[in-house]
Amino acid sequence: MKSVVILILCLCGLPVFAQQKNVWNGKRAAVVLTYDDALHVHLDNAIPALDLLGLKGTFFLTAAAPAFTERLKEWEKVASNKHELANHTLFHPCIGSRPGREFVTPEYDLATYTVRRITDEIKVTNTMLNSVDGKTERTFAYPCGDTTVGGVPYVDAVKENFVAARGVQGKMVPRNEQDLYNIGTYMISGQTGEELIALVKEAMKTNSLVVFLFHGVGGEHGLNVSLEAHRKLLHFLKAQEKHVWNPTFLEAANYLKAEEPVKKASRK
Ligand SMILES: [Zn+2]
Repeated sequence: MKSVVILILCLCGLPVFAQQKNVWNGKRAAVVLTYDDALHVHLDNAIPALDLLGLKGTFFLTAAAPAFTERLKEWEKVASNKHELANHTLFHPCIGSRPGREFVTPEYDLATYTVRRITDEIKVTNTMLNSVDGKTERTFAYPCGDTTVGGVPYVDAVKENFVAARGVQGKMVPRNEQDLYNIGTYMISGQTGEELIALVKEAMKTNSLVVFLFHGVGGEHGLNVSLEAHRKLLHFLKAQEKHVWNPTFLEAANYLKAEEPVKKASRK
């Protein structure tokens, strides 16, 4: 009896162990590059740098931002080049009373919103993005990481419109992540290229997904990464492409989701 149990443990255990090294689409880690708020520098700096190396980015677009409304044709091209256009609401409402929120105007203070209003704005943004890229599968990022309206979480009201959502807590995402509507990310502001690369190395060591959150790339935003640090990270990803998968946020979320039935089965 004992030997049968040992045999079963071996048979079950070995493939699991073997899988653990390359659990991200056959690679050791996954790296998702996200860019928030629809900035001109995304079109002018980030996308040319990504395209040069054949890497993919996810752009969480604030649909009312001038860099989106005034450059729609360019975003169309970005989408046809397999980057992801994602939803970051229409007006980017945030809770104005929190520290460092002086930029929040009374009209777009999330504290004065209702769940219905934020839901409507998010749905309209999906429609706008669909008119640019023709896609129906979409992901979302909470503006300022605020997830509540008047103390009420609004995720349940909007999640049917999305495959997944990005939160703002700085953490590596494990292969068996359960909460697809609050996926962790690292907010980048002023880090060196070496510091960015260290996050990728950490993901490779722990077989994780790491999601980078950029705003400014070579300027245009208080939260900024230098062109040099950004370029160093991209070159590292290119050099490590045998070991590191670079999906869009949507591709990574669908990959996590595809494993759900397996996870459920293994819990039985
Ligand atoms: Zn934002």
